Amino acid sequence: MNTFFLLRRIIIRWLYQLGKISNIDASITSILCYHSISNDHNRFAVGLETFEGQMEKISEHGTFVSLDEIIASREGAYLPSPSVAITIDDGYHDAISILPITKRLGIPIALFVLSDPERAEKKALGSKSRLLSWEEIKYLRKEGWTIGCHSATHPNFFEATETALRQEIVNAKQKLEEMLGEEVEYFAYPGGRFEDRSIRFVQEAGFKAGFSIREGCAIHGANQWIIPRTIIDKTHMISEFPAVYSPTTFFLRKWTDPLRLWNIFLKFK
Ligand SMILES: [Zn+2]
Repeated sequence: MNTFFLLRRIIIRWLYQLGKISNIDASITSILCYHSISNDHNRFAVGLETFEGQMEKISEHGTFVSLDEIIASREGAYLPSPSVAITIDDGYHDAISILPITKRLGIPIALFVLSDPERAEKKALGSKSRLLSWEEIKYLRKEGWTIGCHSATHPNFFEATETALRQEIVNAKQKLEEMLGEEVEYFAYPGGRFEDRSIRFVQEAGFKAGFSIREGCAIHGANQWIIPRTIIDKTHMISEFPAVYSPTTFFLRKWTDPLRLWNIFLKFK
């Protein structure tokens, strides 16, 4: 634990309390983004026990909701507050291990997978864990998980040509739908990278919504094609929940963005 972690925890918890007093944090819908659920050394892997502790902490103060419920609320449907949606990117095999926890706590999960995992750019993915097979993805779908698209091979969208982008978004949706035998409605940008071109393809492909990893609430004023999500990784302590995905922390992150302070806080060794 370095000084920055400690400082971050103190600051965001203090801000959260302030937000609570001033009622800023009362109305909140957050989407959390996980990757590997394992003890892998990479920063984005969160251990199973830690994940369980985090889910229990969330259930103490908020309601778990699905992406469908969040999207419906944008058109006026009721959404409990505070509410939290859980998403998992990349589709590592270890995601299956959370099933007993999500069943026990009634957590709807949205899993964003690759349509062409055999060609996945392992370096971009960052974890050594193996990816889910199609049978396993179909099994999780049967268990009630929402399956979303996370591109075909997880490339860097900023460097992709128009043709490649189309394949990674439009064709990836079609392939996933063929594999699952149903419509795939949501897209999560690999590495959170998006620009006008990729947003346009997400719209053109017929997705209902796109998900980024920008800080922010999921409904209030959020652009439907880059809905914010908060990445949870090894640097997050359970004691930081729910402060870490609260409006006061989003405000702090936006405000400190030009100084790159948040990145210093997040430096992981
Ligand atoms: Zn990813």
